[in-house]
Order: sequence, then C-alpha cells, then structure tokens
Amino acid sequence: MGRDITDPSVLRVMGEIQRQDFVPAAYEAQAYDDGPLPIGLGQTISQPYIVALMTQELHLNHDCEVLEIGTGSGYQTAVLSRLAKKVYTIERLAQLSESAQTVLKGLGIMNVEFHVGDGSCGWPQPRTFDRVMITAGVPNLPQPVTEQLAEGGIIVAPLGYGGVQQLMAFEKKGQKLIEKMLCGCRFVKLIGEHAFDETED
Ligand code: SAM
Repeated sequence: MGRDITDPSVLRVMGEIQRQDFVPAAYEAQAYDDGPLPIGLGQTISQPYIVALMTQELHLNHDCEVLEIGTGSGYQTAVLSRLAKKVYTIERLAQLSESAQTVLKGLGIMNVEFHVGDGSCGWPQPRTFDRVMITAGVPNLPQPVTEQLAEGGIIVAPLGYGGVQQLMAFEKKGQKLIEKMLCGCRFVKLIGEHAFDETED
C-alpha cells in the first residue's frame, strides 16, 4: 500500500477484505498485485492502492450513507460497507451487479442496496447522500449526482476525456464544490446520459 494511505481504519479494512473473493478464477494468482484486473464484459476490478486512496479521501464514519456509481466486482463496495452506515451502489451491467450481490451476500455484508441502471442519473429515488464515489471515468461531474450530494458532503471521482483521468475530491460548501487534485489514474468510462456515449472511443 502506498505510504500516503495513513488512515488506520482504511488500512485495517483493506487487510480484512480479501480481493481474491472478487476476481475471476483465472486471475486469482494476481489478486494481490497492485493493478486493475479484468472482471469480464470489458470491465475491471480497481487497483487496490486506488481503492484505498478513494476510500480515504471520503473521510467516512459510521453515520455516512454513500452512493457508489459503478459496482463492478463489488470489491470497492465491500470496503465502503465496512466504514459507512449504508452503501447504495449502481451498476449499468446486470450480470456484474448480480455477481457482486452474490459475493457480498456470501461475505455476510448486509448494509448495501444494489441498483441496476445508469448511475450518471443518480439514485432513482430523490434523496441526498453524505458521500459519493464514482468508480469510472467521467468527462465532468454528472449534475444529477452532484445534486444528490448533501451539504458538507464529499465526492471522489476520476475526471477526464481520454483513457487517463485526474482523480479528484470535491467538498460541497453551499453552492460551491471545493476541489482537491489527488493523482493521475486510468479507469474505464462511465457510459450514460450524463457521462460518455456508448459509441464514443
Ligand atoms: N470499483 C469496482 C471494483 O472494485 O470492482 C470497479 C469499477 S469498474 C472500474 C467501473 C464500473 O462502472 C464497471 O463495472 C462499469 O460497468 C460501470 N459503469 C459504467 N457506466 C456506468 C453507469 N452509467 N452507471 C453505473 N455503472 C456504470
């Protein structure tokens, strides 16, 4: 783990959640490499260092309700679930969501609500969240999502147009989002009405 991951609760949970539970059998031997791995359907499980950094930057506590956009394998979801009150996670691809639901249920994780749909439109019911994490690259923060962030809340997201993005954290202060640059990163694209078009390269 990078030396800038210093939050003891994040380090503890990263040690407790076994990444091998979330990777396809063919990649089990690489489960603890610090890099993304394929999970099928052209998608990836995120790099452990980036999972830890994004989690740390959310500054979670057990009162937080978190919206996660891009469930993927459910690995990041599981990490969030151990540090927050409840996680609401949206995945565009039903097959990935179902597989993540099976893994989390098997681990006895009960404080996660799953939804299959376009996360760029936000959670389907109107409500706000204390924290938001977007786990796929977005050109800009999707407006319906920022509208669902509570006052004082934090969003962490990779922003950029190409295959390389800038990982950013934003804190909502009144009408403003105060931004903090974290690092360069590479995520698959968020495909949706308020993100990238499926046909875009
Ligand atoms: N953090 C996840 C993990 O550890 O397995 C990896 C997430 S993966 C990099 C990004 C995910 O976002 C993919 O599973 C992809 O299908 C999903 N995705 C893309 N566009 C989406 C959208 N509009 N709404 C919800 N999920 C979306």
